[in-house]
Amino acid sequence: MTQYDTSNIFAKILRGEIPSHTVYEDEAVIAFMDVMPQADGHALVVPKSPSRNLLDADPATLPAVIAAVQTVAIASKKAFSADGITILQFNEAPAGQSVFHLHFHIIPRHEGHPMRA
Ligand code: C5P
Repeated sequence: MTQYDTSNIFAKILRGEIPSHTVYEDEAVIAFMDVMPQADGHALVVPKSPSRNLLDADPATLPAVIAAVQTVAIASKKAFSADGITILQFNEAPAGQSVFHLHFHIIPRHEGHPMRA
């Protein structure tokens, strides 16, 4: 397992040390709006258990996490009247990860509207 750094920004949000716009919470995850959305309604689903990314996660925690990802994706599609939902998840910096606490991007998509860079 790779080292988990408890000073990462999502760990601080989970501890309530910095604010977030929380849109969903259950025993396994919180979900909040991304501060730099790639499309309107871009949210992040963040497991409460501390793992650096998917490669590092305890498999026993994952069924509840993926169920929450589905719940947020369905709610997001409805709330934003989206035509589809893109789900992104990055593992380590070369793959695009910038915050080193496992998270899933939930991005509502509309026909003819590319994601912002
Ligand atoms: O690239 P990665 O999957 O690690 O993405 C981290 C995401 O966290 C980015 O989309 C960034 O906008 C978001 N973020 C956030 N609130 C913060 C810091 C980062 O929503 N305080």
